[in-house]
Amino acid sequence: MIRGIAALIALAVAFAAMLVVPADARPPGWSAGTTGRPLATCIRRAAPGDDPRAIARDLAGFDCTTPQKQFGSGDFWVISEPVGERSRSRRPLNARMLSLWQDRLTLHVLYADGRIETMADDTVGMTKRIQLGAVVEYPIPRLRAPVDRLLWKVEGASNVYAVVRNPRIATEAESNRANLFMAALYAAFGGLCIALLTYNLALWTTLRYRFQLAYAAMVAALMAYAFTSSGALAWLVPDIANTTRMRLNYLLLTVTAASALWFARAFFEEHVFGPRMRMLIRVSIATLLLSGIGFAACAPLAPALAHTIYSWVFASILIPIVAIVVSAWVNRSNFLWLFGIAWAAPIVAGCLRVLNGLGVMPWSFWLDNSTLISMAAEALLSSIAITYRIRLLSRERDAALAAETVARRLADLDPLTGLLNRRAFLGHAIGRSGPQTLLILDLDRFKQVNDTIGHDGGDEVLRTVARTLRMLAPETALIARLGGEEFALLCNAAQPVDPDTILARLRATRMPYDLRVTASIGSAHGTMADERDWKSLYRAADQALFDAKSAGRDRARASIAA
Ligand code: GH3
Ligand code: MG
Ligand code: MG
Repeated sequence: MIRGIAALIALAVAFAAMLVVPADARPPGWSAGTTGRPLATCIRRAAPGDDPRAIARDLAGFDCTTPQKQFGSGDFWVISEPVGERSRSRRPLNARMLSLWQDRLTLHVLYADGRIETMADDTVGMTKRIQLGAVVEYPIPRLRAPVDRLLWKVEGASNVYAVVRNPRIATEAESNRANLFMAALYAAFGGLCIALLTYNLALWTTLRYRFQLAYAAMVAALMAYAFTSSGALAWLVPDIANTTRMRLNYLLLTVTAASALWFARAFFEEHVFGPRMRMLIRVSIATLLLSGIGFAACAPLAPALAHTIYSWVFASILIPIVAIVVSAWVNRSNFLWLFGIAWAAPIVAGCLRVLNGLGVMPWSFWLDNSTLISMAAEALLSSIAITYRIRLLSRERDAALAAETVARRLADLDPLTGLLNRRAFLGHAIGRSGPQTLLILDLDRFKQVNDTIGHDGGDEVLRTVARTLRMLAPETALIARLGGEEFALLCNAAQPVDPDTILARLRATRMPYDLRVTASIGSAHGTMADERDWKSLYRAADQALFDAKSAGRDRARASIAA
């Protein structure tokens, strides 16, 4: 219960943390998307034959209040507020914006003296301008006049977030700092992932729990997702289209989510999942993967629609998650509290992303990076959860092993005397190497003993005889109660037990009600390599025992054959 509450508190804290830290409350240079000076923008639709010079002169045609998103997909002009700064050799300026789904991006830098510098890229060209943190950056050419405004022409904008997203003017030094910061963030994340991946896979090779594999798949997918979303892929493969990078990125996010579901399925105890639940998870995983593949395959045809479908499918992951959490709660899972703590941050981040994707919540750069940071926290905490899970599993296994050992020992022992029973005796005896001596001891007139002192008294006599045999036999001897009042003692011929010593000790041992109890012993020598040996050895000893009984009891006889 306390753990359940702790999990809920963790959820709430994570949720609050996401909401409380506003995007602009952080120091400049905190991340790639927020470095430099933000620029307010106005937008208008593009028409064929538009001329940038004419467009820049006619600002009346621009809409500065309606959110860009509401214009839908298409081709647009976006103009910035006045910049009023010069790009100098000692203080070069960059125009930065976040990478978006666009077919073509043209940046016209309008200078105060009326000159225009133009840089145009298709989606492959954009890749070469990508910085760490998936920021598209253009150097502002150094002209004599200060920059008046920036004018972007965007063709084929999916416009699911904006046409030009988070545009900023930043100095080269600010850009470098942002890149350095993002490099540190991604390096820390990558290092953490590699470490978690390595040790969980290494553990899996010995322990073979399925949830370890699911976890490794999740961390690997997460790393790949971070790699494509960071823009690092653009550095590695500069000829890849930026939209292809984004398609990969979408796909990898669904693979991450699907393997996270798989992990949850494998992580909880089996009793948490009923047949319908198992089906729900299977369907969710399949739907997620299909939507990722669907986006990667079809996004170029209708990027905005593909994004909306993808976002809805992604939102539906909440259904199995809520179902798992509720079922784990109802079925008193041992791991819900750990799961809750580990998943609080990413679940909340995921919800906010989905809300943002559906346009209910404004975008913030913090939100984008929150996936990375919250998943890093999740990966770390899940790894601790796995340790806890394995601890419980090994404890269960140790208990089962101990119980099994006890059960096996009980199955081997004669419950009355604690000696080996016939089956266990044979199991240990057959196959012993070297010559052996077998003694068969049978109590004399035991029926009378029972008649005189009762069955319980007889039992006590049997226990006393067993104790006596145990005391006299060497360490390596096997002692068994073959049945009734018949005992067997098998020892190496080199360390024989003298039957007369046993008989003498029995005579001297104090029995219940001071009853005089004697026994007869038949002995035989031979090997015990196999079942046949046992049969002939037993027959010989039994014959000797019969001779002892016939000769008047309370004596020992050795097999003549021996
Ligand atoms: P002999 O000297 O010829 O061996 O005579 P005996 O009476 O010992 O021989 P018999 O084999 O006819 O009788 C064995 C008796 O042992 C019969 C049975 O009541 C008794 N007995 C067998 N198992 C147990 C047991 O577990 N507890 C007790 N108290 N008596 C047992
Ligand atoms: Mg007897
Ligand atoms: Mg008997």
